[in-house]
Amino acid sequence: MGILDKLKKILPKRKEPELKNTVPKEKENIRTTFGVYCNANHGTTDKKLCPKCTALLTTVMLKMQRCPYGIAKPICDACETPCFGENPTKEFRDIMKSGQKKMLLSHPLMAVKHKLASLGVEYAKMQRDKNSTEKQKAQEEKVKTKLANATRSPKKSKKRKKK
Ligand SMILES: [Zn+2]
Repeated sequence: MGILDKLKKILPKRKEPELKNTVPKEKENIRTTFGVYCNANHGTTDKKLCPKCTALLTTVMLKMQRCPYGIAKPICDACETPCFGENPTKEFRDIMKSGQKKMLLSHPLMAVKHKLASLGVEYAKMQRDKNSTEKQKAQEEKVKTKLANATRSPKKSKKRKKK
């Protein structure tokens, strides 16, 4: 075994950017938010949910388990894919929006963390859009150079003809 191999074994490996599984935390947040929202709006108490909210929450939890984005998923209320179905997704987002405001008072840490996660998704979207415009620019440049070359070449051929 070479000395480099030995060193590699001793030294801590350079860490790959770790993918944290934030899904359990998100589920906890969604459950709490639903409780806060339902208690405030549907006459329920003690974090219990009315039948309608229970049904919606069940759908949400089930779909989260099967999320196509895996554990790298964006938080559900900032996601572009309405995978709970069109109306349930809208209801879910309304509940999260309204519930998160109340959460700031009752569960400030959870609410702030959720807000940060949502900002993270926004930032990722921005980066993605920025990258796509940069790609477009590169594509435009290519076309421009091709055009420039195309307009240049006829002159060359003329010269050739003169010869
Ligand atoms: Zn309810």
